[in-house]
Amino acid sequence: MKTKKIIVVGGGPAGMMSAIRASQLKQDVILIEKNSILGKKLLLSGKGRCNLTNACDLDSFLKRYSKNGQFLRDAFKRFFNQDLIRFFEERGLKLKVERQLRVFPESNRADSIVKVLEEELQKNKVNILYNTKMKDVIVENKEVKALCLENGKIISLDRLILATGGLSYSFTGSTGEGFKIVRRLGHRIVDLRPGLVPLEIKQDYPRLLEGLTLKNIRLKFSDGGKHIESNIGELLFTKFGISGPLVLSLSSKVVDWLRQDKKVFVEIDLKPALTMEQLDMRLLREFKLNSNKTIKNTLRALLPKRLIRVFLEIARINPQKKTHQITSSERKSLVSLFKGLRFDITRTRPIEEAMVTKGGVSLKEITPRTMESVLIKGLYFAGEMIDLDGDTGGFNLQLAFSTGYLAGEAAAFS
Ligand SMILES: Cc1cc2nc3c(=O)[nH]c(=O)nc-3n(C[C@H](O)[C@H](O)[C@H](O)COP(=O)(O)OP(=O)(O)OC[C@H]3O[C@@H](n4cnc5c(N)ncnc54)[C@H](O)[C@@H]3O)c2cc1C
Repeated sequence: MKTKKIIVVGGGPAGMMSAIRASQLKQDVILIEKNSILGKKLLLSGKGRCNLTNACDLDSFLKRYSKNGQFLRDAFKRFFNQDLIRFFEERGLKLKVERQLRVFPESNRADSIVKVLEEELQKNKVNILYNTKMKDVIVENKEVKALCLENGKIISLDRLILATGGLSYSFTGSTGEGFKIVRRLGHRIVDLRPGLVPLEIKQDYPRLLEGLTLKNIRLKFSDGGKHIESNIGELLFTKFGISGPLVLSLSSKVVDWLRQDKKVFVEIDLKPALTMEQLDMRLLREFKLNSNKTIKNTLRALLPKRLIRVFLEIARINPQKKTHQITSSERKSLVSLFKGLRFDITRTRPIEEAMVTKGGVSLKEITPRTMESVLIKGLYFAGEMIDLDGDTGGFNLQLAFSTGYLAGEAAAFS
C-alpha cells in the first residue's frame, strides 16, 4: 500500500480515532485542532467521568439512534463496543460497567481516556497541529486536493477526514464552521437542532423548584395524540423547566413535535408503583393518622417539602387547612396530581445547551461502508457532524469512535 498523506480535522474522539487508525496502517497523518488541547468536549463528558460506551448487544445498540441507526451497522461491524473496551484495556486503562450497562474508566476521570488516545497518537507518529483552524477545502474535478488554514497556509493532501463535531457547548470548539464548509462543497446539511436537551415549561413553578430532584418518577410526554413514556428514573427541575436523564432521553421526539408547532405537555407520575386506588388508600391512611395536622404537614410523608407548596397551589387547597377538613373531592384531585402533575412544554433550551446536535451531513451522501462522501472523492466524515445522534448512555461516544475508526481505515486502504 502506497503511503498517503491523510489530514484529519478535529481533535475530538472521532478525529483522534481516525488519526490513530490511519497511522496504525502506516499512513502519513496530520491531525488539525483549533484548540490548544485535544478532546475538550470529551473531558466534560459523563460529568467529567466519560461514559465512553455501553455494553449492550448490537441490536439494542442500533435502536438507540432514532430511525437512522441502521446506517451504523457497517461501522459497528468494524469497530464496536467490545473493540473499544479492548482498545483501552490493552493500553492499561481499566474500565467498569455501571447500571444500564454504561461503561466508564475505573478512575472515574475522562482525562484518563484522553491520555490513552494522546499516547497512541504519539506512538504512531501523528503530527498534531494545535491552535490551527481549517478555513476551507479545495476540491478539483470532484476530488479533494488541499486544505486551507486560517493562518493562510495551504496543505496538499491525498485524503481528508472531517470530524469537526456539532454545534453545542461551543466553548469546546464545536462551533459549526465545518458544516458551512461542507455545505459550500455541495453537501446537504440536514437541519441542525438540539438533541438531549433540557426543556422549558410555561408554568411559573420551576423558579420555586429549581435544583429539586425527583427520584423514581415516570414521565409521559404527549402532543395531544401521540405520546412517549419513560421508564422510572430521575427528573431535575431547572430555572426554566425540566432536565435530568429521563427528560434528555425523551427530548429528541419533543424537539420534533415542537418544530411542527404542536402543543406538547408532560405528565409526571410521582408514584408509578401505585395505582390510583392504592394511592387513594395510602392518602386516606395518612389523613387518618394526621387528622389534626395541617394538610401541608401531612403531605410531608409523601412529597418533598418544596413540591408541597406547588401541589397545594395547583389543587387550590389552603396549606393551613386541617387534614380532617379536606373534602373527598380535594383528596381525589391530590391523587390525580400525584399520578399526573402536568406542565406545558413551550420550547427546548438553545442548541448551545444540548448534549448533542441533531442533523448534520446527510447520510444519503455518505457511503456507510467507508464514511466517504458520495459527491467528493477522498473526503470522509466522522462523529457528531454526520446526521446521527444517540441516546444518553455512551451511545454518542461509541458513534464517534466507530465512525472515526472506519473513516481512518477506509482512507488508508482506498
Ligand atoms: C456536557 C456533555 C457531556 C457528554 N457526555 C457524554 C457521555 O458521557 N457519553 C457519550 O456517549 N456522549 C457524551 N456527550 C456527547 C459527546 O461528547 C459528543 O457526541 C462527542 O464529543 C462528539 O465527538 P466528535 O469528535 O464528533 O466532536 P467533538 O468532540 O465536538 O470534537 C470536534 C473537534 O473539532 C474541532 N474543530 C471544530 N472546527 C474546527 C476547525 N475549523 N478547525 C480545526 N478544528 C476544529 C473542535 O475544536 C473539537 O475539538 C456529551 C456531550 C456534552 C456536551
